[in-house]
This record gives sequence, structure tokens and C-alpha cells, in this order.
Amino acid sequence: MNGSDTASHVCDVLVIGGGPAGSTAATLLARQGVSVILLEKDPHRRFHIGESLLPCNLPLLRDLGVLDKVREIGVFKPGAEFVSDRGEGRLAFPFRYAISPKDTHAYQVRRSEFDEILFRNAQSHGVKTFEGLRVTRHVLPPVSPRR
Ligand SMILES: Cc1cc2nc3c(=O)[nH]c(=O)nc-3n(C[C@H](O)[C@H](O)[C@H](O)COP(=O)(O)OP(=O)(O)OC[C@H]3O[C@@H](n4cnc5c(N)ncnc54)[C@H](O)[C@@H]3O)c2cc1C
Repeated sequence: MNGSDTASHVCDVLVIGGGPAGSTAATLLARQGVSVILLEKDPHRRFHIGESLLPCNLPLLRDLGVLDKVREIGVFKPGAEFVSDRGEGRLAFPFRYAISPKDTHAYQVRRSEFDEILFRNAQSHGVKTFEGLRVTRHVLPPVSPRR
């Protein structure tokens, strides 16, 4: 389904956008036996903003089976610290002091690498993926009225 691919493709669920949300949703659906097509307008790896993960991301990454890979590309982060731009003060938030801490660290990642891990993980779960394909319009099939 790139510019020259005119074949028709059938699926149960079409996911538009191969960022973390799209790749995760596609993987979780595929794991339940749903046939999924995932479309991403840019070829991975591509630049994206939003590099700072939180401990609450870790259980999901663990469940998706990508935590080891994220650990390999990530920088270990035991907390966050906010520093005043006027140099008047700073406030640290060690994750180990969080409410009900389960994981007490997170990772700083390059989103280009992080997003590619999640996208390839979707592929390896049987999601049919297309990169470099921007969705410009969609046509929904008619919905039959409820009786
Ligand atoms: C300045 C800034 C700083 C941020 N910092 C952080 C941070 O430190 N930590 C953090 O957790 N979050 C951060 N965020 C938020 C983070 O970027 C988002 O929460 C995250 O990217 C959302 O993921 P997503 O998969 O929903 O969407 P996206 O990551 O935006 O993914 C959407 C995907 O859809 C694709 N797409 C869009 N339109 C189409 C189309 N028509 N056809 C096909 N594909 C399409 C895009 O190319 C993209 O790959 C930050 C955001 C901003 C703006």
C-alpha cells in the first residue's frame, strides 16, 4: 500500500499512526488474534519529540516484551528535577518516593529509536505495517441500523 501498491488489503482493525499509541494498540489487538493494519506516514526511524519516560510506562513496556530493548537504548533515570530558570531554586522528585512505587526508575530515550522498537514489535506480532504512507481520507462502510 505504498504509492504504487494498489492491491486491496483486508483487516479487522485499521490503525492510523505508528507512534507509541498506534503501535501499542496494534500489538495488543494482534495478540488477541485480531487482524490489524498499521499505517505510518513517515518511515521509521523518524524524529519525534517526547523523550522522557516515567516509571508507570515500565509495566506496559514489560508486558509488550520490549523492556530489554528500551533499556539498551535508554538512559537510566531515577527521578526528575525541576530547576528555576532564574537560578533561585530546584526541586527533585526521586521516583522511589512516589505514591505506591513499583518501578523506581524510568528511561530517557531517543523517540526515533523508541518508536521504532514499538513499531517493529507490532510487526513481529503479525501486524501488517506500512511506512511512508500518509492517510489523506477515509470512507467508512455503511452501518446497518440496530433493530
Ligand atoms: C514539546 C513536547 C514535549 C514532550 N515531552 C514529552 C516527554 O518528555 N515525555 C512524554 O512522555 N511525552 C512528551 N510529550 C508528549 C508525547 O510526544 C506524546 O504524548 C506522544 O508522542 C503521543 O504518542 P502517540 O502515539 O499518541 O502520537 P505520536 O507520537 O504523535 O504518533 C502519531 C503518529 O501518527 C503519524 N501520523 C499522523 N498523521 C498521519 C496520517 N494522516 N497518516 C499516517 N500516519 C500519520 C505520525 O507520523 C506519528 O508517527 C511531549 C510533547 C511535546 C509537544
